[in-house]
Amino acid sequence: MANFELAYQYVMRQQGMYQNFFEKGDVSGDQILCSLCFNDEGLRLDSTTIGIDNTSKCINCGKSDGKKLTRPLVRHLCYRFFVRGTIERFEFGGFPLIQMNELRFNDSNIHVSPWLEQDVKLIEQAGEIGLFYYGPRLWMLGEIEPLKSLQKEEEIDSIIERILQIYPVHLLNENHPFYRIRLNPDIPHDSAQYDSPPQGYGGNNRFDDNGEAGLYASPDLELCIHECRATVEDDMFVAKLVPKAELKMINLSAVVREEGVTEFTSLDLAIHFLFLAGKHSYPICSRIAKRIREEGFDGIIYPSYFSYARTGAIPFDTIQGMSIRLLEPLQDFAQAQSVPNIFLFGRPIEDKKVLVYSINKVIINSIKYETSFGPAYHENMINKKNTAEIVANRRKELEDKVLKSFNLPTDDK
Ligand SMILES: [Zn+2]
Repeated sequence: MANFELAYQYVMRQQGMYQNFFEKGDVSGDQILCSLCFNDEGLRLDSTTIGIDNTSKCINCGKSDGKKLTRPLVRHLCYRFFVRGTIERFEFGGFPLIQMNELRFNDSNIHVSPWLEQDVKLIEQAGEIGLFYYGPRLWMLGEIEPLKSLQKEEEIDSIIERILQIYPVHLLNENHPFYRIRLNPDIPHDSAQYDSPPQGYGGNNRFDDNGEAGLYASPDLELCIHECRATVEDDMFVAKLVPKAELKMINLSAVVREEGVTEFTSLDLAIHFLFLAGKHSYPICSRIAKRIREEGFDGIIYPSYFSYARTGAIPFDTIQGMSIRLLEPLQDFAQAQSVPNIFLFGRPIEDKKVLVYSINKVIINSIKYETSFGPAYHENMINKKNTAEIVANRRKELEDKVLKSFNLPTDDK
């Protein structure tokens, strides 16, 4: 029993808190710090965003015009700045370089720039937490069996068949209009300009990397504008498209419930990571799309690469090292974080599957950014470069250990 307790404590000390979710909106308690207590400008600005308006004197620094922070708010600030602010993306997946929890109170080990040293002490004491370098679980870096199989020629087809089996069909009809943006079209008022490029002229994009014709659209107009990477120099037009008949779509943005899987074997997580990955994932996505089209679907609903920028959610969200996508009570929450986009096969306007309902010019009047901050990396701080090294070593270590314990031959060449 004592051994279990020791082992449990050991594991928990390496894991982050998931306080951003369960303490959301909780600002209770005494106001112990204020935004002017900090040296670092990012911490000052972040705490001004989340702090409480109160003109009484700060009990820490004595100034009265800073936004006040209670203990839950100090923790929230810490999470926002040090955890969310150090999320690094890798080829597939990603994780925060720094984590925090109560078990590491007075036992932190991170390196920060000189102007942050005092701030870190203040946050740790006021929040009763400690900051430490996070050792990611390997699935966070794409060590997920179905994801690895999707990258292997001899295994990709069997995974695509599983995708066809477990992802839900979704029917779009005239009640589900969506938007399609064109930049600098030749004849802006001509419906045909809003169709897909002809077969063979596909856009080398997520689903048409192989030149297949296809049309990208979204029910979220702002996201459409963001995804087409327009600048103020462009003449931008938007068409509202309405399905003429029922469109049979496969919904790859769904959070799929799977029996008896872990993060390392979850197809749901593999697909989630695939759509959060950049250009190197396009050949895989295009291959999946081709097979879906052969099955008689009209198109694909998929999560936007910019979902997280749009919803402000945290990519690769975990509780104690487990993905929130695999925890049933949080699956609706995970679903709400993804913004669905639409890809239609072929040339749906010419094929009379969708109707161009109307066309408008789009004028960008202002651009608004919502920002938060993170630490600038200290020279001794773990960074993206040496994290890759650390992870490779850790993987080797684990593999050796596992192979030894099972006495299996290595397939590593
Ligand atoms: Zn203060």
